[in-house]
Amino acid sequence: MTTFNEMNLSTDLLRAIEDLNFEKPMPVQAEVIPYLIEKNVSDMIVLAQTGTGKTAAYGLPLLQKIDADNRRTQVLILCPTRELCIQVAEDLTSYSKYIKKVKIAAVFGGASIERQIKVLNSGAQVICATPGRLLDLLRRKETNLSTINAVVLDEADEMLKMGFRDDLESILSETPDDKNTLLFSATMPPEVMQITKNYLKDPKEITIGEKNVGADGVVHHCYMVQAKDRYLALKRIVDFYPEIYGIVFCRTKKETQEVADHLMRDGYNAEPLHGDLSQAQRELVMQKFRSKHVTLLVATDVAARGLDVDDLTHVINYNLPDEAEVYTHRSGRTGRAGKKGISIIIANLREKRKISDIERNLKKQIETKKIFTGKEICEKQLFHMIDKMVQVDVNEDEINPFLELIYKKLEWFEREEIIKKFVSLEFNRFLDYYKDAKDLTINTSFKDRNQNSDINFNRFFINLGNIDKLTPPELIGLINDLTDQKHIAIGKIDIKKTFSFFEADAVYTDTILNSTEDAYFEDRPISIELSSERPQRDNKKRSFHRKNSQSGFNSDKRRNNSKSDRYKDKRY
Ligand code: AMP
Repeated sequence: MTTFNEMNLSTDLLRAIEDLNFEKPMPVQAEVIPYLIEKNVSDMIVLAQTGTGKTAAYGLPLLQKIDADNRRTQVLILCPTRELCIQVAEDLTSYSKYIKKVKIAAVFGGASIERQIKVLNSGAQVICATPGRLLDLLRRKETNLSTINAVVLDEADEMLKMGFRDDLESILSETPDDKNTLLFSATMPPEVMQITKNYLKDPKEITIGEKNVGADGVVHHCYMVQAKDRYLALKRIVDFYPEIYGIVFCRTKKETQEVADHLMRDGYNAEPLHGDLSQAQRELVMQKFRSKHVTLLVATDVAARGLDVDDLTHVINYNLPDEAEVYTHRSGRTGRAGKKGISIIIANLREKRKISDIERNLKKQIETKKIFTGKEICEKQLFHMIDKMVQVDVNEDEINPFLELIYKKLEWFEREEIIKKFVSLEFNRFLDYYKDAKDLTINTSFKDRNQNSDINFNRFFINLGNIDKLTPPELIGLINDLTDQKHIAIGKIDIKKTFSFFEADAVYTDTILNSTEDAYFEDRPISIELSSERPQRDNKKRSFHRKNSQSGFNSDKRRNNSKSDRYKDKRY
């Protein structure tokens, strides 16, 4: 199915799609629309990120099925936030603009309930709602869901994350049993699974792309800095990308406000977006960001939801979220609609483990990069400015009257000197700021890491040794293989005749100790215990090792590698 015309959509809907310049269906639309049209709507679970075109995917077929002559409520769309609710209602209104007598109502908190009641009373066939406000209206008996044919749970994972579970259940209990339920979610955590089990009947499951896989056009960069240098690192990143248009994600409202305040004070086009701002303030900020008067939006995850902007160049994780899925979601806000995007993580060494989790969730590698030096930034800014100068439009009429005098004033200078002076006029700010800029990158080589005392090692005993032909690289491979972890830092290794000692990052102690269950070396169970002897803190002498996929103990290799033939599956 390659075109909207082939989807049995009504001419009214096709005209509206044409007005919107949607050339062809997006993947989620190509899957969902024909199914819902042909099946006369049925229960569905759709795993799709925001920005994939899901509103039209459910909106078009549901609008097509509406009986416009009947003013009763037929479709209910539940959204986690006011912003998404408004956006969905606006989208549906534009899709249905040629369908006479169809009315879409948006009901959400933080706005006059009386006005919303008026709209509902006038008879809207489609209600887009946030759960809290809808419950309020139901309690006041201002709306009635007994005539609903279809319910859409849009961004179901977010609604549950925001604590709407009880509200959702109360709302769904007011709807008829024979309605159809369509659940859209970017992720499928257990709470969402539970909802699908309880409320969906024999649902058709559709996954757009792989579950939770990051957008294709996005590259992921990580900058390791000391926690105290986070803000300086952010500034350098922003300075290195003069055309940046992005969101800086923070963990808390307080941090969001502080980072935005600093950026504004330092002369950037930045604004904060978080839940402590009034609705009017939030809307103003989003408006400024959409129109690019603000180019850096500093936001919490919750506040940034519903902000639909397609052409972000960057997403910056000023601080990482707790859950890997949230990172995937954040980074999916760039690289949309076939464009390229960069998702940046500013992290410290203690967050290495989180970064591995994120890589697993994304199924992509995150490239660790060095923080830009002052020199690199100045160079980038300088050439950006020159490029801009080359491209600038000259308003001959306005400038000509002044030129004679200007030439006169400058006639004492050589061409080269004039160029230097003009460039410096713009550029001295950067040169001054970065004159004595220090290197912010933390050296992540293991030797230096230890000298920074960033890793706290524990010493372990393992019942394999020389007699088993165990070598240090093989021991490292074995540990990685057993634990299925990529980034465990291994310290000193001491291989004895029948047993060995090794040091490993203490953070992974439980993982290492629990990893030997059902693992055998030939016919001997492998045993790893914490050694009572603490590691010696002699930094200078210690050599360090980490995962070495050439070890022969790597899980992929252990079946093919002759050395690892000794190690059968689960039997090392
Ligand atoms: P959504 O995931 O529904 O929020 O949609 C993301 C963006 O894609 C919105 O700005 C839509 O207007 C736009 N969009 C939806 N369908 C199409 C399409 N078939 N072609 C181009 N843009 C689309």
